[in-house]
Amino acid sequence: MKFVDEANLRVEAGDGGHGCLSFRREKYVPHGGPDGGDGGDGGSVYLIADHNLNTLYDYRINRVFKAERGGNGAGKNRTGAKGETRYLPVPVGTLCYSRETGELIGDLTHDGETVCVAQGGYHGLGNARFKSSTNQAPRKTTDGTPGEIRELRLELKLLADVGLVGLPNAGKSTLLSAISAARPRIADYPFTTLQPQVGVVSAGPLRSFTLVDLPGLIEGAAEGVGLGHRFLRHVQRTRLLFHLVDAVDIEGRDPVVQIRTITDELERFNPELAKRPRWLLLNKVDALDAEVVADLRERVIAELNWQGPIYTISAINPDSLRILVDEAMNALEAESARHDAETDNDGAESRGDERA
Ligand code: GDP
Ligand code: MG
Repeated sequence: MKFVDEANLRVEAGDGGHGCLSFRREKYVPHGGPDGGDGGDGGSVYLIADHNLNTLYDYRINRVFKAERGGNGAGKNRTGAKGETRYLPVPVGTLCYSRETGELIGDLTHDGETVCVAQGGYHGLGNARFKSSTNQAPRKTTDGTPGEIRELRLELKLLADVGLVGLPNAGKSTLLSAISAARPRIADYPFTTLQPQVGVVSAGPLRSFTLVDLPGLIEGAAEGVGLGHRFLRHVQRTRLLFHLVDAVDIEGRDPVVQIRTITDELERFNPELAKRPRWLLLNKVDALDAEVVADLRERVIAELNWQGPIYTISAINPDSLRILVDEAMNALEAESARHDAETDNDGAESRGDERA
């Protein structure tokens, strides 16, 4: 299915059903009282996160989504039927904004999470409701209220623990397929990856993390040149970045310059992203002598003032990948533990925030 990460749509909740005006008319009952029933509530529209989806493609085809109207009340005190709620499935990681106000309505980060995007109308009251000691035959009823109508913008930001960044051909797709079950396209020319791919990386029993591979970043990506920019948003919600570089200096493409190019792009796109923990992976070292690799490592530290971890890996050396996966898993677990400890400290506050 086509990867689509933005869509505009209109949602219309159902109107509430009207109250009914009716009186009992029965043989041998001379003065039947009022028996007009209430209307039913209109159906609301909800978004629901579904982990089986990974695109907003459906919302490019259909653009208007309505929930059912509530039924009108009827005689003999019959209440109108409730309008059915409409659930619109979206991928996990979907953000929903009002197009009118720009306000963030919801951020669906867990499978099964829901958010109401259009509230159904309230039911009208039948005349039976208005009977009182002074008015035995009320002719008053109320109409249901209209359902909410909203113009929405959906934006998908994939949720993955680790994001892969690097120039085209750095070996990102190869790495993803080597350490996860994902099977991205791999080729010896740039831009074979045209859509983000998410893979689950297993680090042993009950230990795994998700890794997202993005189409190669190129110089100028942050300015919207080429493919990379559209997809950079998908690394925004990762916790750790793997910065892959082809360590083989073919045709004078100095790896140090290539590393700087990506760092500059990240900075231009979002300075926050540039500050995210980022591990440098010197890739394809199977094609290099050990001294060349050692020299490169030294140059990276000296010329780029690289402070973070540096790994030397190769897709055909499983040991190098296993070490990387294990240490990434440990780092992510440590980070989660830190995060949990922090949330425990201000637990009362964070619970209060969850009301929406
Ligand atoms: P991407 O554009 O970053 O996704 O790069 P790809 O994964 O498509 O790989 C680009 C090319 O590099 C392909 O021809 C791969 O076979 C090759 N490649 C990837 N990883 C390695 C590696 O560890 N060693 C060697 N020798 N070649 C690799
Ligand atoms: Mg690729």
